[in-house]
Amino acid sequence: MKWTLASDVDGTLTGDRASLDRLASRLEQKRVVGELYLIVSTGRRLEQVLQGIVDEGLPKPDAVIGQVGTEIYRPPFDNETRPMVAWHDRLLAGYSREEAVSFLDGIDGLVMQPEMYNTKLKTSCYLDRCADPKAAAMLIGHRVAPHANRYQVVWSSGRDLDILPAASGKGKAIRFLVEQQGLDPVQVVVAGDTGNDASMFEEFDKGVVVANAKPELIAMAHTLADGRVYFAQKPHAAGVEEGLEHYGVLDGGS
Ligand SMILES: [Mg+2]
Repeated sequence: MKWTLASDVDGTLTGDRASLDRLASRLEQKRVVGELYLIVSTGRRLEQVLQGIVDEGLPKPDAVIGQVGTEIYRPPFDNETRPMVAWHDRLLAGYSREEAVSFLDGIDGLVMQPEMYNTKLKTSCYLDRCADPKAAAMLIGHRVAPHANRYQVVWSSGRDLDILPAASGKGKAIRFLVEQQGLDPVQVVVAGDTGNDASMFEEFDKGVVVANAKPELIAMAHTLADGRVYFAQKPHAAGVEEGLEHYGVLDGGS
């Protein structure tokens, strides 16, 4: 039986190095015998994931979904690896960066994220300097709502707001990859800690919310049917490990 783990990085895998080292070693044991396909699904760029494998002990993945589901990468990985063209072209069809930026007009305190997080397919800002970040996020949401066939707003960590193609996001990117690789969607487990992970939980029936998760993800996860989400007692990588034991991906659970 082959499982797929699609895990967020920051706050989910990272945050407790000793636990991550233990989890990474258990995941690698499964990978080498072909029992696990590991997807890292993150807001990071590819090179930041690759650096994290070296510096932070991140596990070696079979695929990387970067920039909040707007880019998909397959091995061999290096800093020259290009995102999957089929996914890129599909998303580009309905997305105008100029229009996406226009939804952010005139909001006091809004700060655009650095250039490297703003791409042809991702328009990203910080709202934590706004007087009321949540209200600012809702206002942007209202502006985008009439264009929901082409754009979506992802609000995360009380700080990060992304305007992405409607067809993108972590959940849909994982779905695309699962179909493309011929993986069984029933055997997919997702893991996350903040709002930009919510789409993974909407898309798949087995999720792990780590104990340190932000309220926005916990609230969303509680709206899903019973049994679809495992709320780990432990934080960070230890929580992911606990969830994988719960689903029987790793031995040792109940
Ligand atoms: Mg995170």
